[in-house]
Amino acid sequence: MRYDVIVIGAGLGGLTAGAKLAREGMKVLVIEQHSRPGGCATTFRRGEYTLEVGLHEMDGPGSRDVKNRIFGELEVTGNVEFIPVPEFYRFIRGDLAVTIPHDPQQAAARLTEMFPMEKEGIERYFEQLLNPRKKPAAGGDPDTSVGDFLDSIISNEDLKLILLGNLGYFHDDPYSLSLAYYTIAEGSYYTNGASFIKGGSQRLSDHLAAYIISHGGEVLLNHLVTQVKVNGSRATGVSCRRRNKPAHNPIEATADEIVVNSAIPALADLLPHEYGEQLREDCTGLNTGASLLTVYFGFKRPLKELGHNYYSTFIYDTSVRSQADISANNHDDFSRRSFTFVDYGQIDSGMASGDKSVGAVCCIDYLSDWENLSREEYDRKKEYVAKTFIERLGKLIPGFEDAVGYSEVGTPHTVKRYTLNPGGAVYGFAQNPGRTVLDSFSPLENLHFASAWGKTGGGFSGAIAGGYLCAYNVLRKRAKK
Ligand SMILES: Cc1cc2nc3c(=O)[nH]c(=O)nc-3n(C[C@H](O)[C@H](O)[C@H](O)COP(=O)(O)OP(=O)(O)OC[C@H]3O[C@@H](n4cnc5c(N)ncnc54)[C@H](O)[C@@H]3O)c2cc1C
Repeated sequence: MRYDVIVIGAGLGGLTAGAKLAREGMKVLVIEQHSRPGGCATTFRRGEYTLEVGLHEMDGPGSRDVKNRIFGELEVTGNVEFIPVPEFYRFIRGDLAVTIPHDPQQAAARLTEMFPMEKEGIERYFEQLLNPRKKPAAGGDPDTSVGDFLDSIISNEDLKLILLGNLGYFHDDPYSLSLAYYTIAEGSYYTNGASFIKGGSQRLSDHLAAYIISHGGEVLLNHLVTQVKVNGSRATGVSCRRRNKPAHNPIEATADEIVVNSAIPALADLLPHEYGEQLREDCTGLNTGASLLTVYFGFKRPLKELGHNYYSTFIYDTSVRSQADISANNHDDFSRRSFTFVDYGQIDSGMASGDKSVGAVCCIDYLSDWENLSREEYDRKKEYVAKTFIERLGKLIPGFEDAVGYSEVGTPHTVKRYTLNPGGAVYGFAQNPGRTVLDSFSPLENLHFASAWGKTGGGFSGAIAGGYLCAYNVLRKRAKK
């Protein structure tokens, strides 16, 4: 089988790249090991509940958002419905509780009312986020950490923690998160607002897959790419086989361009030995980002009926007194670990019918927490996690326990199984200060990256922008020939 482009992986980066390239007339083959397209952007069905794997909220699409153009071109606009999320987030730590609106002026006013002595620091924080081209304020370094930046402009630790409420959207420790990256990613939530996809993120993934097919491409599900073939300085094609069927004959496909949506570190195992070694060397110094644990909930009735009124609530444990406590807390027992709770029933999410509703608890987690356990220990630990979070939410939302009709735990191990991302990472490489970006793999001129592991980082926006940028580069290169 011969194609113009083969895309390895049908995560959002791969699907966006594939859709744009198919739109421009290239013959595209996307190969995905899972039974559905989307990677982290998928849903699954349990009885009467549709459960969302990954999406809590996506920044935008807003007027100053590059996704607007991408969604217009790929006919996402008009076919996939984005429901605005009512508030950015609610932060709770013990008695300290505040709701942060998406509007940056309103957010600054609310915080200044609570922390009048920090007026100047609050202004500098929003000035930084709303002007992403501005140089970081601390130390004169080209990049610094978010933690150091906050220490340089704000004294009150409670205020810093509130501003870092949704840190888990990007990373696990403010002192090792790049301010340059955070400025763009967090800034976009304040500039463009945020939304959920009606019916779940699978709608977006399915649309992109269908778009590829309707533009002459193919999406081969349930197939695992096992090798990238190389000849001289060019990748010439791939070998793949049916997932879970190692004995089946491999399928070979060739192409002019190979787009890699799967994890960059995992690509090293698919390449011939010397290229794999070279790629591993190129990855030296790049850290794999954190994973997430999720407890998926189906509710027998909307939590609004219990008096719960927030879409996205970040609950920090009372033991977290300063931003220096965040990292250790992310490794703490689940009875104390900070977490977020998303109540999809606060919007017209299209995830459950009638008076049913769905929600999710999510916290930073690590594959190492789930390794070397027997099947029984693994299952027992999952039960403990579900029970612990149900109890913790019961204290916050009276009647919560009785409203739960279904619960299921997805661990970093689950993320790894469905995405093949090392460490079950959900945002690609950690966005450490001054990080180098793996934009391409120089020994192979026609091998391109389109994922959270690439230049634009993780999250829906990072993966989508990365996929589009990758396609743009492929097209530009071909136009030059
Ligand atoms: C629980 C959770 C909550 C999240 N919440 C949010 C949120 O609220 N907002 C937000 O913006 N982001 C969120 N994210 C992050 C976001 O979903 C991801 O960063 C983004 O979707 C990653 O996209 P990607 O293109 O890099 O690929 P991935 O989603 O990692 O997909 C890669 C794909 O490649 C396939 N693949 C890998 N290797 C092979 C192979 N050898 N052969 C064939 N196929 C292969 C995998 O099966 C997978 O489908 C969340 C993620 C998770 C897991």
